[in-house]
Amino acid sequence: MLKKKNLIFVGAPGAGKGTFSAMLLEDHPMAHISTGDLLRDEVKRDTKLGREAAGLMKEGKLVPDEIIAGMVRDRLAQPDCENGFILDGFPRTIRQAELLEEALSSLGKSLDRVVYFKVDDDTILKRLTARLNCKKCGKIYNKLFMPPTVEGVCDVCGDTLYQRPDDSLETAKARLEVFYKQTSPLIDYYRDRGLLFEISELDKDKICAALTAELE
Ligand code: ADP
Ligand code: ZN
Repeated sequence: MLKKKNLIFVGAPGAGKGTFSAMLLEDHPMAHISTGDLLRDEVKRDTKLGREAAGLMKEGKLVPDEIIAGMVRDRLAQPDCENGFILDGFPRTIRQAELLEEALSSLGKSLDRVVYFKVDDDTILKRLTARLNCKKCGKIYNKLFMPPTVEGVCDVCGDTLYQRPDDSLETAKARLEVFYKQTSPLIDYYRDRGLLFEISELDKDKICAALTAELE
């Protein structure tokens, strides 16, 4: 088990939060809490929240803080989070970070590390617009950098790959702007608290090694 196991992954959209969550989870069973995935599931099930969130997500805007924080709080209370958790895509605002702090202390938990994946804008936009996802098993590919063996087909489960509607160039740019305006203040917030670990590598193996060395 990892020594540091209550984690936040922060970074621009497409910085690698989802990809490196999956990689870490291969060797270390812990809860993976992706607020984007949770919201996409609400949209798919056509719940009230899903219907409210869908429009905002399509424009690359954030879902209201209190709603998303409530969702995460419920998830953190589940027993599988005892082994540790990766918060992937949450918090995304200072307010969300404050709500998270409240939720964690009421559950008797605390954060061990906040991993910041630092990637330049050009790379981000290239990655996002070439990203492909498997609907069935969630594996993430990239047409340019990490293509599946057979075009359009998931290596793991054989399902058809799709492009997320918010990975169009226009929405990707909007999401990047939202990151700088609303999310990037979190980097100093967590640096001030002595929790930040920054990775600015782009090479996959190097990132993996850095992550494991830091957390083990
Ligand atoms: P990304 O690749 O941008 O990190 P995510 O899958 O994490 O994508 O999120 C997709 C969308 O879901 C966001 O653009 C936003 O509309 C919504 N969303 C996800 N997490 C949050 C959050 N913590 N707060 C508000 N909105 C969120
Ligand atoms: Zn699959």
